[in-house]
Amino acid sequence: MNEKFRFNRVLLKLSGEALKGAQEHGYDADAVRSVVERVKSVVDQGVEVALVVGAGNIWRGVMGRSGGMDRVNADYMGMLATVMNALCLRDFFRAAGIQAVVQCSIGMEPIAPRFNRDEAIRALEAGKIVIFAGGTGSPFFTTDTTSALRALETDCDAVLKATKVDGVYTADPFKDPAATRYAELSFDEALARQLKVMDSTAFSMCRDNDLPIIVFNFSDPDSLERILSGDTEAGTIVS
Ligand code: UDP
Repeated sequence: MNEKFRFNRVLLKLSGEALKGAQEHGYDADAVRSVVERVKSVVDQGVEVALVVGAGNIWRGVMGRSGGMDRVNADYMGMLATVMNALCLRDFFRAAGIQAVVQCSIGMEPIAPRFNRDEAIRALEAGKIVIFAGGTGSPFFTTDTTSALRALETDCDAVLKATKVDGVYTADPFKDPAATRYAELSFDEALARQLKVMDSTAFSMCRDNDLPIIVFNFSDPDSLERILSGDTEAGTIVS
């Protein structure tokens, strides 16, 4: 345990968009490398990092609806896309000299082993990054909910939601210049003020199980380290 950090084992939720850089879809190697560098900087200091990645750079279930697809199959495609993103991140982590493993909620051998709580915790304790792929394995959920679920299962101290803004605001800061940022917020306040922190299922799971949610701006290179130290200038802590 590193005294510098307020949170020592965390689940980092990355949107699939974090991997696409300036591209419209897919991957941008520099963007992926920059994600890896940021995570590496805290792993090198002893923080245990579990990771869930979305699939917005490839596919979201909602895209299927406009094309006339069945909702369930469109969600299955979304889950498959998270597996591709997990494999991509794992290899870039390994290329940067960090041990990383993928566990998948859906049977996908030989591509990746299934989710296994004990093995995941053992890997985290050994300093490996564990990437949970395939979402929850069920349609009608999101990777936000997967993050809450896996964070609870692997005894994480917090869920870190990487976004393009440095926290939770009173209103959308891109639309309302008068919007102000919260440094810390209780679950009840967030609910009473109808602030969108994570999707409602993920939010309820964190609230019911006292798992803090941290919303921070991942494009700022130091923000991950700062927020892990409890610096609420770098993001909002909801607890
Ligand atoms: N998805 C799902 N069940 C899950 C997780 C994800 O059906 O447990 C599907 C859903 O279609 C979703 C897509 O996978 O739209 C990609 O996940 P998400 O939208 O959370 O990705 P992000 O927006 O974070 O990149």
